[in-house]
Amino acid sequence: MSKFLNNKYKGLIPYVPGEQPKEKRYIKLNTNESPFPPAIALKYEDFADVADNMRLYPDPEAHSLKAAIADFYKVKPNEIFIGNGSDECLYYSFMAFCEAGVSFPDLTYGFYKVYADINAVKADIIPLRDDFTIAVSDYEDRGTAIVIANPNAPTGIMLGKEEIRKLLCKNPDKVVIIDEAYIDFAPEGSSAIDLVGEYDNLLVIQTFSKSRSLAGARVGYAIGNAALIEDLERLRFSVNPYNISSFSLAAAVEAVENAEYFRENCRKIKENREYTRNELIRLGFEVIDSHANFLLAKTERISGVDFYEKLRENGILVRHFENKRIADYNRISIGSMEDMKAFIRAAERIIESRIAAL
Ligand SMILES: *Cc1c(COP(=O)(O)O)cnc(C)c1O
Repeated sequence: MSKFLNNKYKGLIPYVPGEQPKEKRYIKLNTNESPFPPAIALKYEDFADVADNMRLYPDPEAHSLKAAIADFYKVKPNEIFIGNGSDECLYYSFMAFCEAGVSFPDLTYGFYKVYADINAVKADIIPLRDDFTIAVSDYEDRGTAIVIANPNAPTGIMLGKEEIRKLLCKNPDKVVIIDEAYIDFAPEGSSAIDLVGEYDNLLVIQTFSKSRSLAGARVGYAIGNAALIEDLERLRFSVNPYNISSFSLAAAVEAVENAEYFRENCRKIKENREYTRNELIRLGFEVIDSHANFLLAKTERISGVDFYEKLRENGILVRHFENKRIADYNRISIGSMEDMKAFIRAAERIIESRIAAL
């Protein structure tokens, strides 16, 4: 740390991203990326045009992308905010709406605490129940904004729409942020986007990084009441109006317009998730019921850290968290069927050698 850093940032603990190994030798099941190529692969030649125009700034209003998203989700363009990843949408939301503090679960996306800290906002951290579910009644009248990942990470457990309604009704004077990074792997109709017209305090945040195979493009969006979106735009135009590159905009439009490809990929992930879940149960794992593109699993037969390390020796990366409540578990992202079969084969070998050593 230099002597020049502002005092208020000296205690800041940054977010720790999952490993992105330089060598290609790992089957990567650690950061919930998509195993499928983005829809841009289908129409590569379109990008020559974009390349020719790179000397120009991108559209600061992202008209083309807002139009595509508005059409897909049946909302209005002025109800959409586009961020450089949903992380940026979250950052601006914490900056804009969380002055009185923000409540979220103890086990959830790690960035919420970091964004609270950097904005000097009080984080009101509420433990999940023992079974890792969210008790919605804990979130009544706290006097703070609320942020819930739904499905939650790293559990994959989801709140139903009636529970989301309850959160919104019980906190009419505070913004309720529903982070739907994984909603496309849940049953159709689970998204809170269709409640946006009814509740002026609802902000739904989604991303192109998981279900739309564009983690490298950095595109996310928030959908909410036009007044909330206007507030977010005020901040964005005060920091970085050209927050999405021309390439990323074009890739994201392509991804939304290829609806069939998107739905087919989501279907495959759900199928591979069910396969992996059943196989893990067969091997003696306890698996949390997940609606996301990952599974949280543990077994008495091997500790969380040991399983992580053995998999790594076998060329497979999963995610292990230090947090005591889930230290026995690993989070396994769902990849292609081939990846998941390789994972299960490795897991089976590891468990068998454990049993043999007893
Ligand atoms: C991956 C993830 C994000 C971040 O997505 P980006 O759009 O890549 O910034 C946000 N929230 C949750 C819960 C996530 O898991």
